[in-house]
Amino acid sequence: MGKFGWLDSHAHLSDDRLYNRIDEVIAKCEENNVDKILTICLNFEELEKAFEVKKRFPQVDIAMGLFPTDYDLYTEENWKRLEEVSQDQRIVAIGEMGLDYYWEKDEKQREVQRINLKRQIEIAKRVNKPILIHSRDAAKDTIDLLKEVNHFGVMHCYSYSVEMAKEFIKLRYILSLAGPVTFKNAREPKEVAKMVPMDCLLIETDSPYLTPEPHRGKENEPGYVKHVGEYICELKEIPNEELQEAIHKNYDKLFKVNR
Ligand SMILES: [Zn+2]
Repeated sequence: MGKFGWLDSHAHLSDDRLYNRIDEVIAKCEENNVDKILTICLNFEELEKAFEVKKRFPQVDIAMGLFPTDYDLYTEENWKRLEEVSQDQRIVAIGEMGLDYYWEKDEKQREVQRINLKRQIEIAKRVNKPILIHSRDAAKDTIDLLKEVNHFGVMHCYSYSVEMAKEFIKLRYILSLAGPVTFKNAREPKEVAKMVPMDCLLIETDSPYLTPEPHRGKENEPGYVKHVGEYICELKEIPNEELQEAIHKNYDKLFKVNR
């Protein structure tokens, strides 16, 4: 075994499906050689739960952000709280945040998403922490907005084309690939996996969603990130150790602000 294990750059450990059996979930990570997990909190209750988890399992890092379609959460009180917690040392990134045009067809609401996204990025810029971007059916608007705000971070569960991938990389975004890369009919993520330079890549589960093969259909968990990693190594024709080292280096470089 190499010096580095696998790493899950995007999981939702505060989701009850994982939180209620957290010991089992972490044990599975150890079994599968997953030595680092970034857990994503989408509200302040989830954040409290994540702080509890981190106390027991220091290999867990925390990110906090407001999801694009959770419109009810964008209150002035929550903006204030987000601004405050963004300074907390335990929080290494702001997000996930972004644009979701798959779940939102109304142009007025999409504009609300763009306004909220810019405001969240401003918070991240003030504390100089990377942002985690969720973008679905909104490639063009995401690129345009990220160009305008000029920050850096991760395209979580990257699912757009190879051409777009090059654009995001130019803008200082790391592409994080998830379970879909292992799906039989998913052509595009496989092409992206082959193309993406080793220093612009992370892997993730987005658990409890998006279970990779060979567990597709079951509930996802961070331990399964190993299947995403192994699959990418097959596509890139490289040994597992090479990818493990690369994702750890990319991760540490990106989130170094708090170390
Ligand atoms: Zn997520």
